[in-house]
This record gives sequence, structure tokens and C-alpha cells, in this order.
Amino acid sequence: MTNLFVRVAVDQPMAVLFDYRYTLADAPVVGMLVQVPFGRREVVGLICEIAHSSDVPAGKLRDVTSICDRCAPLSEAWIALTSFAADYYQRGLGEVALPALPQVLRDASRWDRLFAVEPHFRILPGGRAQLPDALPARASALRRLADALAEQPSLALSDARALHPKASATFDDWLAHGWIETVTANIAEHDANAPALPTGAAPLPLLTDEQRDAVDAISGAREFAPFLLHGVTGSGKTEVYLHALAALLAARPDAQALVLVPEINLTPQFEVAFRARFAALADGSIVTMHSGLAEGERARNWLAAHTGSARIVLGTRLAILSSMPTLAIIVVDEEHDPAYKQQEGLRYSARDLAVYRAKQLDIPVVLGSATPSLETWWQAEQGRYTRLTLTRRAVADAALPSVRLIDLEEERQRGRASVDGLAGPLIAALKLRLERGEQSLVFLNRRGYAPILSCDACGWVAGCPRCSAYAVLHKPERALRCHHCGWESRIPKSCPECGNIDIAPMGRGTQRVEETLASVVPGARVLRIDADSTRRKGSAQALFSDVHAGEVDILVGTQMIAKGHDFRRVTLIGVLNADTALFSHDFRASERLFAQLTQVSGRAGRAGLPGEVMIQTRYARHALYQALGRQDYVGFANSTLAERRDARLPPFVYQAMLRAEGRTLEAALKFLEEAAAAFAPLPGADRVTVYDAVPLTIVKVFNVHRAQLLLESASRGALQASLHAWQPVLRSLRGVLRWNVEVDPLDV
Ligand code: ADP
Ligand code: ZN
Ligand code: ZN
Repeated sequence: MTNLFVRVAVDQPMAVLFDYRYTLADAPVVGMLVQVPFGRREVVGLICEIAHSSDVPAGKLRDVTSICDRCAPLSEAWIALTSFAADYYQRGLGEVALPALPQVLRDASRWDRLFAVEPHFRILPGGRAQLPDALPARASALRRLADALAEQPSLALSDARALHPKASATFDDWLAHGWIETVTANIAEHDANAPALPTGAAPLPLLTDEQRDAVDAISGAREFAPFLLHGVTGSGKTEVYLHALAALLAARPDAQALVLVPEINLTPQFEVAFRARFAALADGSIVTMHSGLAEGERARNWLAAHTGSARIVLGTRLAILSSMPTLAIIVVDEEHDPAYKQQEGLRYSARDLAVYRAKQLDIPVVLGSATPSLETWWQAEQGRYTRLTLTRRAVADAALPSVRLIDLEEERQRGRASVDGLAGPLIAALKLRLERGEQSLVFLNRRGYAPILSCDACGWVAGCPRCSAYAVLHKPERALRCHHCGWESRIPKSCPECGNIDIAPMGRGTQRVEETLASVVPGARVLRIDADSTRRKGSAQALFSDVHAGEVDILVGTQMIAKGHDFRRVTLIGVLNADTALFSHDFRASERLFAQLTQVSGRAGRAGLPGEVMIQTRYARHALYQALGRQDYVGFANSTLAERRDARLPPFVYQAMLRAEGRTLEAALKFLEEAAAAFAPLPGADRVTVYDAVPLTIVKVFNVHRAQLLLESASRGALQASLHAWQPVLRSLRGVLRWNVEVDPLDV
């Protein structure tokens, strides 16, 4: 009998594979999952290589414990993709590959159950009617269970147990009452967890000429072809995706498509559109993939993609690493959105990985946006990406909204009062919309009531005791809250320093604007949507439905309301407090502001009623606002690119950031300085500029001090080579709590 060994990737911060002896009956295949002893634990790993010998001394080799033979092996292409991501972002393969799998697969004790028949439960009409009243008032776990049953077509017992430890006994009781019934489903089989479809199939809209050209170009591509779909807000980019996918899926009965959206909140809207359009596909052909899914559902959807039974995967950034054996096209909607960048663990850009994956598989990739990232725009300018342009809104008679700048300085000089931060012209415009029965949207990127609570008498300011940041006043919650570490305390009645009882909020957040709006626009139904008002799972969806149903006159919120939503009755957008971003030290701040304001403006006038955008500012003559007023993305992008070229900033150079966290700032800085000293002699380092180590703007968070070191090079290759050589050095340095390297950092 020949000796057999497997090289396995495990979820450890090491770029090496581990050798194991393989003595199980079933033949191992690259891409299969195995359970292996690791230290004192048993972990799940991925077979990356099979060998007939090993350099590890026989006495040290351990045996593979078990193999997951029910799950088809991950493809070589998938392993190559995760290897690339690991390599490029300076991590171990296992650190990338394993976390990309659903939790259930990474726990060998659950493999059997994963593929066994697991009971599911479905609520019956009697249960819908009686359950809510039958539950004791304070039984919150029971209520969660009942809610989950009411919301989902069926609930797996394992998911139910996660909501309530006694789910099994509870279900017995409810079964006896006739409130629920059992359905048996194999967890590896997906059930159609579809949101309700609008009844009656809508006729397909006739494509505009511009849409038609874009669809033809995309569906004509048979190999690697990166497209930038640059379409103004409301130009019908979704319709282009739908048509391109329809052409592809019809032509190739096994082809799969991956569609990425930046935010969980946008998936339901897309899901409805995709399910309606692709109703002819078999049940379960469209699945979603995002962090909001219950564990069982995530595993089912992942497996559906992995086995090829799902033809369309709709997801957020994490979906970019899903296993799709017959992937034939990737779409990245709102490709400029910073949410595509993962900010912890593997700090990857899903947009960039999408382009890489498309190239690897030799398939088309479509990056859509009204305000493409300057990285993408520069690729298109050089002719590396094919630009497809939609210059007009798709709905007949829907024009882009007009943009008006309200010069706050001028308002003040003319003695025109603003009420608690809302300028007169904006208030008048809001009232007019209310009279006409149209909706308005007020946008400001700051949640809470006021960012600062301070004492006039002695200058005391409420701060977080754990962070170098102010504590934000939250009025409805009656709390001071730190937005960085979650610290919370009651609002003091008087100044803790001098006893003065006149402590006052300064500045305004969404809660304060909500309050002001209710008083200056009497009779208006005001709704606030931000991270605080949508904390409960599913509540964002309910709030957005209220807006769509016309039950709201004025919607106030943060960037949550700016993105992607197709509001049909919004005709006025008010923008408050945008100026701060004009003077940020981050060179990308203006790009982000332009994109954000274009996005939020794009929510107005989508259904034929003329839309208007009012931006309150002290800098009405600023070039950014002027370009925005002209709806001139191209002018803004080209002039900003010229500035970046002069200043030698991305996309003309490549950057990486080393961040360190220490108990003291000195410790963090010392680590970075030692790292910088060790960097200089490395291969490639002579072509890399290393900047001074500096503290982060908010230097202390949760009692941890943070500093960073920026590296920059005109050569991506030199930067990558030196970063690789740096890794073992960094691992050998001590003195900090944590450190990480981020490649292509977005926040600099
Ligand atoms: P974008 O993503 O470009 O902002 P959407 O895809 O949300 O735009 O489309 C905006 C609106 O235009 C949607 O309500 C959509 O149904 C509608 N629409 C798209 N294409 C057409 C078309 N060819 N004819 C009529 N309406 C269309
Ligand atoms: Zn005081
Ligand atoms: Zn804090």
C-alpha cells in the first residue's frame, strides 16, 4: 500500500499548508474538506495538494480524522482565486478560504446533519391569527421564534434553536395546537425563500437606444471583457443587467451569474426584480448571499451555488468568494461604493476581486455606477475597460433633478433666518411638497441628536472615557453614546465639572433634524432612517416599505437612504452639513462626497415629476458643488484625476498601510518605526516610499492607541514583493496588541 499525504490549508495566520497522513477509505481529492487535528483541537481544513511523500518527519505527522465526502470538492479555479486574494492581501490561504465557507461546513460535527433530513416548520393560518396573542407578554425569545415563522416560508430546527434554546419543545406544543406544521427538507436543498412578488407580470419595458447598445455589447462578449456601465441615476442600469443576464442564461443552460450590490438593504429590491424577470427558471435558481441570512439559509444558498443549481447569486461583498462552478458573468452595481471594501480580517475589495475573477475565468464583468470610482474611471480613460454610457433617465419624461445651492453666508447677510439649521428656502420647499402630496428626503451624514454636549460656563465637553472622541447625544434613547466603542451613559443633568445646569447640545444629527422638521413643517409625517432606527433585524425593510407606500412625507436619514432606492414619489432632496467633507485630510473625501451627493440627488424625480435638490453650504462657489450643480461627473472626475496625477496619488501610485494598535501611542509608533527600519533593506523596497508613522485621527478607541505607516510605490510589483518579504519580519516584532497590513487602503 502506497503512502498518501495531503497538504491542508487551515484557518491560521500562516501562509503555509500543513501535511497530514491520509489513511481513510475514500480517496482524497483536491478541494475537499477534511477534519484534522491541529494543536490540541480538531479543525476543518481544505485539501490543497495530494502527495506521496512528505518532508515532515514521520513521528510528527498526524492523520486526517475524517473527510466531508458529501460535499463536492471546491474547484481548482476557486482555490486559485482564494490563493490570489490571500497572496495579494498578504494573508494565509486558509485565512481566506475557510472563512469564505458557511459556518456549518467549517464544523465537522455538523457535516452529517448538513446533508441529513432536518425538520422544518411552517406556520399555519391558525397560528398566524392566534400565536401573537397566545404568547406571554415578556417572552421575547418565543416572540422571536413566532416572528421568524411568520416571516419565512419555513424555519429549520437548527435556525430555530439559535433563536430559542427550547425551540424543539415549543414546536411540539405549537404542533399540538395546530398552529404550525412540519415540512421535511434536506438542508442541502434550498427552499424558495422569496419575498412576495408583485402580482401580474409587468410587460417588459422597451429598452432605450442607449440601454440596447449596452446590452448588446455585454451579451456579445464571450471572453474576459471588463465594462464600465456609466449611467446617470435612474438611467435603468438594472434593466441592462437583467437583459444581459437573460441573454446569457438563455444561451447557456448551465451558466451562472453573480450580481453584487453594496448593501444588504438593497438586496430585497433587486431580488424582487430578478425573481419577477426570471420567474421561468426553476425554483431555487436565484439565491441571496449576505451576512443577514440565518446560518442554515446561508449554508443552503451557498450549496445551491456550489452545486450549480442556483443560476443567479445576488449578494453583498462576501458573495464574491462564493463557489460557482459555471460562473459566466459578474455584475458589480454601484461599483464605487466603499462598502465593497472589507474593513477587517481579510481587507479585500470585492470590486477588484470581481475583475480578477472575471479575468481568471475569461468572462465579462460589468461595473455599474453613476459616479465610478476614479480607479475604474482611469481604467476606462486608458481604454482598458469598455465604457458604456447611459446619459438619460429611462422613464419617459423623467429628467435629472435641478441642483440649487443655498448659500448660508448669503442667507445670514440678508438677514433671512434659518430655523435650527434649516434654511428658509428649504423649509418653504418642504412645505410646498407637503401641499402637493409629494415626498421629500433630507440627508445628513450624522446620526444621533447632537455630536457634542458641552457646558458654556466652564468649557466641559462630554467625551468617551475610552476613546479620544466626543460622546454623541442620543435624545430618544436618553443616552450619551460613543460611536466608536459603544460606551453609553445617562445624560448628565448638570455639568459634571462646575455644576452649571445649562449644558447644551451643539451641532445636529438626524434625531435633531427629525425633531425640527416636525415643528417647522406642521402636519408632515416625518420618518427617520439611520443605524439607530433600524437596529432591529428587518426593521429597515419595514421602514422603506412605508416610504414606498406613501405613508411618509419627509424622510430624514444618513447615507442609508442615499443608495440605490427607487423612490417613486420623492421630488425634493435637502442636503445638510455636507461642507465638513470638503476640508478632510483624506484625499478621497471629495470623491466620496461627490458620489454621495449624486446618489442622494438621484433619489428625486425618478417617475416623471420634476425633482429638485437643495444643498445648504457656506462654500457655494466650491468647484465640487459647481460641478454637482452642472451634473458634471466627467468634468469632476477628470479634474480630480489631474490633481491626483500632479500630487502622485492613487490611481497613479499604489499604496499599502501598516496599522498598529498598542496600549500606548508610544508602543504603536515604536512598532511602526522598527517595522520601517526593517523594511528598507528588503527586495523591492528601494522603489517604495515609506512615510512617517503617524497617529490615527481618532487615536484612541476602547483604550487602544492606534497609529499607521503609509507605503507607496509607482510599481505594484515592487510593493507586493517588499510586502511579502516584510511579513516574517513583522511577525517577529513585539510590543503591540495587534497589527495589520492593508493593501489598497481606502481611508488614508
Ligand atoms: P439606476 O440603477 O440606473 O439608477 P434603475 O435601474 O433603478 O436606475 O431604473 C430607474 C427606473 O427606470 C426604474 O423604475 C426602472 O423600472 C425604470 N426603467 C428602466 N429602464 C426602462 C425603460 N427602458 N423604459 C421605462 N422604464 C425603465
Ligand atoms: Zn461646566
Ligand atoms: Zn468610545
